Amino acid sequence: MGIATINPATGETLKTFEPLTADEIEAALRSAHQAFEQYCHTSMAQRSQWLQATAKILEQRKEDFGKLITLEMGKTLKSAIAEVEKCAAVCRYYAEYGADFLADVPAKTDGSQSFVRYQPLGVILAVMPWNFPFWQVFRFAAPALMAGNVGLLKHASNVPQGALAIAEIIQQAGFPTGVFQTLLVGSEQVAALIADERVMAATLTGSEPAGVSLAVAAGKQLKKTVLELGGSDPFIVLKSADLEAAITTAATARMICNGQSCIAAKRFIVVEAIAQEFEKRLVEKFEALVVGNPMLPDTDLGPLATPGILKTLEQQVEECIRCGARVLTGGQRLSDRERGNFYPPTIVTDLPPSSPISQEEFFGPVALLFQVADLDAAIKLANATPFGLGASAWTNDNRERDRLIEEIAAGSVFINGMVKSDPRLPFGGIKRSGYGRELGVQGIHEFVNVKTVWVR
Ligand code: NAP
Repeated sequence: MGIATINPATGETLKTFEPLTADEIEAALRSAHQAFEQYCHTSMAQRSQWLQATAKILEQRKEDFGKLITLEMGKTLKSAIAEVEKCAAVCRYYAEYGADFLADVPAKTDGSQSFVRYQPLGVILAVMPWNFPFWQVFRFAAPALMAGNVGLLKHASNVPQGALAIAEIIQQAGFPTGVFQTLLVGSEQVAALIADERVMAATLTGSEPAGVSLAVAAGKQLKKTVLELGGSDPFIVLKSADLEAAITTAATARMICNGQSCIAAKRFIVVEAIAQEFEKRLVEKFEALVVGNPMLPDTDLGPLATPGILKTLEQQVEECIRCGARVLTGGQRLSDRERGNFYPPTIVTDLPPSSPISQEEFFGPVALLFQVADLDAAIKLANATPFGLGASAWTNDNRERDRLIEEIAAGSVFINGMVKSDPRLPFGGIKRSGYGRELGVQGIHEFVNVKTVWVR
């Protein structure tokens, strides 16, 4: 696949782009490196002002950018606009708190003075996915630029116009030339970029295989990486839960980004006592969703981003059936919309937890429903996955709540709410979901030199 905007709702190729030449890549690296030499000396107050200006542009043009997101990757326009608003929020968050997070931290030692100082590393390469094409980039860029680093973005090949728009926004906000650049290149260029001595570290948000190849390339160069990879988040519902709230949230949590979110709830683990009721009402919720043109205000579910994702999802559901699972609703691509990548809201149940397919991430509107006897079985099944990104659990019993918080193996646990990212809280995973954290105070400390200073 080349670098192109292909409307996922119609299959129409709208715009194609030539990847950068070797000379153009070299010029971008030179510009980034030179920019860092000056930029690392700018004041926190100045960087904060530029981030505030970035937020303003995002807010003022959220409709335009929202439309571009929907056009390129198919999420509903309302969710795309909300994504742009969230990007403004993350810029404002680091503009406001970044200087505090990066202030010297004194320590009492045998020296007359000792402290920790946070300093920028230099040029950071960000390899980003299409599913939240603005948010994923800004949650990297806002803290990285606030800390005095400069960014090079290699975005997913199906969102080139969004990628270019982001670099333009940052430039328009006043950040100096070269501080943030988009490189329109294919993934085969990533290893060479990491190997370049001017690139100091890299981050990737995307699939497990992409994460592995970036980590291998960076490992060879001993360069720091942060990886935000896939997930198969459990959504546990226990007997004491508020069932109505749990079911409504279950449908929302599975469908975010047309089902293509790393932290979408993917495995619904429900105790037997309420399983029948939960199943019946979840089917009703899924069947009430409006599937169609993502630009229209009443649409709940747009197309999947690419034909490849649609095909993978179809094959996964077929594999579930082969393993003995039943489809409660959906389960087949929508034949009346042949030209777009549409797949209906789908619920699969009775999938044997021992089947290899139950270990995979389902990146689309497919819920896997499991029944368990009790809390012990729920926790065991929730943890029986190679991933460890987020988890949502529903209970009104304090003892159950404490055990879930303690025993769920994931980067986050949300009790009586859906998993979401929030600039004020760290975000990231364990196991095959990656390592490192974005957002919060932890996020801004990933790409800095934690310098120890000791003075006699
Ligand atoms: P993907 O194929 O891994 O693509 C993500 C980015 O990596 C794109 O820019 C892609 O470039 C690049 N890439 C692909 N293969 C690469 C390689 N071998 N070396 C270097 N770069 C490579 O991911 P996707 O399938 O589009 O996105 C969905 C995945 O991302 C899911 O697994 C999802 O859970 C995960 N995700 C995780 C988070 C999180 O925060 N944990 C957030 C969002 C998504 P091209 O487009 O040019 O191939």
